Amino acid sequence: MVETAGGSYKEKYLQALADQERQEKQFQFQLEMLRKALNHLAAAAQGLDKTLDAELLLLKDRMRGASGHQVVDQFERVQKAVIQFERLRDSEHSTAAGKMRAMLEGLLVLQLPDDLARKVQSAARAMEQSLHNYRSYPLVLGEVTLLQQAALEAAMNPKAGFWQRLRGGRTVQSRAESVETPELQRKSVSAELTDENLQLAPAGGADLNTVPAPLKPANHLLAEDDFDKVAERICRTLRNLVESIEPNDIVRHKVDIVRARIQRGLDWFALAVTLDDLRDILMQRYLDVDREFSQYLLQVNAELRSISDVLGIALEQENQVQQAAQTLSKKVGDEVEKIHASLAASTEIQSLKQAVTNHLDVIHKALAEFHSGHLRAENANLSDQLQALLAKVESIESESSKTKELLEEERYRATHDSLTGLPNREAYNERVYQEYRRFTRYSRPLGIAVCDIDHFKKINDNFGHQTGDRVLKLIARLISTRLRKVDFVARYGGEEFVILLPETSASQSRSVLDKIRAAVAKAAFRFGDDPVKITLSFGISAFRSDDTIETAFQRADKALYQAKADGRNRCVVDTDDAEA
Ligand code: GH3
Ligand code: MG
Ligand code: MG
Repeated sequence: MVETAGGSYKEKYLQALADQERQEKQFQFQLEMLRKALNHLAAAAQGLDKTLDAELLLLKDRMRGASGHQVVDQFERVQKAVIQFERLRDSEHSTAAGKMRAMLEGLLVLQLPDDLARKVQSAARAMEQSLHNYRSYPLVLGEVTLLQQAALEAAMNPKAGFWQRLRGGRTVQSRAESVETPELQRKSVSAELTDENLQLAPAGGADLNTVPAPLKPANHLLAEDDFDKVAERICRTLRNLVESIEPNDIVRHKVDIVRARIQRGLDWFALAVTLDDLRDILMQRYLDVDREFSQYLLQVNAELRSISDVLGIALEQENQVQQAAQTLSKKVGDEVEKIHASLAASTEIQSLKQAVTNHLDVIHKALAEFHSGHLRAENANLSDQLQALLAKVESIESESSKTKELLEEERYRATHDSLTGLPNREAYNERVYQEYRRFTRYSRPLGIAVCDIDHFKKINDNFGHQTGDRVLKLIARLISTRLRKVDFVARYGGEEFVILLPETSASQSRSVLDKIRAAVAKAAFRFGDDPVKITLSFGISAFRSDDTIETAFQRADKALYQAKADGRNRCVVDTDDAEA
């Protein structure tokens, strides 16, 4: 009988211990979930929305000593704030989509050809769906720009290629892509054009510098009359577009210039420049959204750590559970001791039975208290809520990390030239703004240069476009590897590069760049067996206190034209430059 009673008590005791261990594991798990949930939630929220920030802050506060119920309540409030924020974000996308749609619909007054009008209409109708998150912006902006260009082109002159004409007439030296002649196969294009081929010895053989300079105005503009017919509508459409852009610091100046220019009325030249500026501005705004997003993801990491710290001290829920488990364990232990004592002392089977039964009753009661107690109910509830919250924030987290990767890829693509791998014009706009701010704040020297490959068109004409591409890649590498780390070079367009040299005056810039020029001029490029001469011209200036970004660039550009006019393969420092 004693054996039987002892065996059943032992089973229950072991059962109680196993239950207790399970409970502890469960609470450990819940604590872990709570930590994860908070970390992820903070990662998805910090800095995005004022209400959400406030609720998270309150949650941190509650974690410092409020009851389990209060913490759970606060979790619910945070969850609500997340949902509200998502709604707000959706409505922002739909406002942007509305503005884009209005802009596209504005194009329809241009009386476009049917098929183009249909495209514009269907893009306008689908705008809401297309522009549903930040990732879709570059694609949609690209499409809208294309449609806008096509609409303007069609409205002006369906056959003549408005865009090409505009760009063809933009400056003295055309920036337009020339129509490529078919690649000439008279030389082997498989020639190795690599660094190994670049021996720094004077090259003999084919001298491409004998080709006449194309420094003539590309004078095939349309008549002003044609322009006047649609000018008003174009101005209206562009004005709407400009008004729908919220400028940031980088583009504010440019937006003002564009707005003023449209206000004054556009002629051919001004329209081409304005369209270029608008493209820059829109691209910059897109990049800015991207940067804000990355910025908040960075802040999240710091926030995350502090929330886990707070959690470590503040999760009193866990302490309560541990205490309850300890009390149970002690009670069971005490009763077991007593059973041992009774067994030792008892001589009579009936009273022993009674004593053991009493002690077991106490143990049963303690177990029942522990299992059905308030704590258990509350924690089961907490567990459910945490599960739901965790599922929600895990989906936010995977969404935000996917978004981050995509944004990083997109950002790279948007700021780098795919042929040469150099930063592109958008990246230049961003960088020159930063350098310019440093220049205005600290008045430190800042050199700027524009570099252009001489007679590049001839390289394409004689050796084919692919070889031209390889020359571009090689020259890009030659320039970028010979500059200091703090310097910056971007492919500005075609075969033109723009270079920024912080802490460097115009004359110092000249000596750095002239070394690069000389190295390229001396290098022996070969196509098949023929050596080919490749040379660069540089226009150089330095920022002055009364400069804007544009005026400094224009001086360097002007100096480049001078270098071309003086015979190419040279560096010319802007003659107005006081520091030269
Ligand atoms: P200059 O010395 O006056 O600068 O003469 P140029 O021939 O270099 O100048 P021009 O502006 O007349 O021609 C530039 C050429 O560069 C025309 C265009 O076809 C070519 N080009 C622009 N971008 C690329 C490119 O990505 N790849 C290749 N292969 N050619 C390009
Ligand atoms: Mg050139
Ligand atoms: Mg050029």
